[in-house]
Amino acid sequence: MYDVIIIGKGPAGISASLYIARANQKCLIIGKDLGALAKAHTIQNYYGLEKPMEGKKLAEIGIEQAKNLGVEVISEEVVGIDWNTTFFVKTVKQEYQAKAVILATGTERVTPPIAGLKEYEGKGVSYCAVCDAFFYRGKEVAVLGNGEYAMHEINELIPVVSRVTMVTDGKPCLVENRSENVAVVEKEVRAITGEEKVKEIDFKDDTKLKVDGVFVAIGTASSSDLARKIGARVSGKNIVVDENMHTTVPGLFACGDCTGGLLQVAKAVEEGAKAGLEAISYVRSKE
Ligand SMILES: Cc1cc2nc3c(=O)[nH]c(=O)nc-3n(C[C@H](O)[C@H](O)[C@H](O)COP(=O)(O)OP(=O)(O)OC[C@H]3O[C@@H](n4cnc5c(N)ncnc54)[C@H](O)[C@@H]3O)c2cc1C
Repeated sequence: MYDVIIIGKGPAGISASLYIARANQKCLIIGKDLGALAKAHTIQNYYGLEKPMEGKKLAEIGIEQAKNLGVEVISEEVVGIDWNTTFFVKTVKQEYQAKAVILATGTERVTPPIAGLKEYEGKGVSYCAVCDAFFYRGKEVAVLGNGEYAMHEINELIPVVSRVTMVTDGKPCLVENRSENVAVVEKEVRAITGEEKVKEIDFKDDTKLKVDGVFVAIGTASSSDLARKIGARVSGKNIVVDENMHTTVPGLFACGDCTGGLLQVAKAVEEGAKAGLEAISYVRSKE
């Protein structure tokens, strides 16, 4: 059992971990990759940089700094999060347990420009299987996505729905060990159509798939996907936090790009520090 699990190894997550490690609490960081910084050619406007530095290099220095303080940093993709007196963080490989969790997962990916997706949100289009599977008992649904996160959502749906189809929108299915009763359609999607509620997925080859619901799980679980799973409030693609980085779920904190506002390293580091300190207090209050 960890005191705190941080999801994300960008500036926000690393900054939080520095405080947690120095407070002598057991801290695990789970990060899929180097996040937004890896895309930044050079960073020039962050404190203490004598010369412009490649974003990737700055990210790597941060991770080494955390490791040197005793923080465990692993490279895995988080696909789910659950709570039952403590938090359970599920990755593609296994499950980890902690007293508190900090979401530092950066900004959400772009929603694919598929006609009907926005229009039918809440009317058949869902972003959270564990939240909404119940509404599709005995019904036919599709999961839009082609990776491990999509498979995680499919596994949540299988016991509840009558049929689930993985729709990859023209991409190859990347899941090797999938259950035999999951059909995969690798065609490109033209639109999600219906009347008051979703009725069909229309493909670019003029074929159709009849569905009662479409669950969106493209790429990796984003910050708001993970927050929604555990009942924390989100606003658009941002996680709602108070001035001390508390989400609406006790023991769950968020910091950095995933809370919106200024999308810069300085703000991610400041919010990470606050989230780290608040998580320390929360864990101590439970002892
Ligand atoms: C091209 C570009 C240039 C930029 N230039 C500047 C600049 O000059 N100055 C500046 O201050 N800022 C700049 N930024 C912004 C800066 O990079 C971000 O504000 C900062 O990295 C945000 O930190 P973060 O920790 O919140 O998120 P990120 O750095 O994005 O880190 C998110 C972390 O979460 C992980 N993650 C996400 N989902 C999952 C999951 N499901 N499972 C496991 N891990 C997950 C990611 O792998 C990553 O480790 C730039 C950004 C870009 C894209």
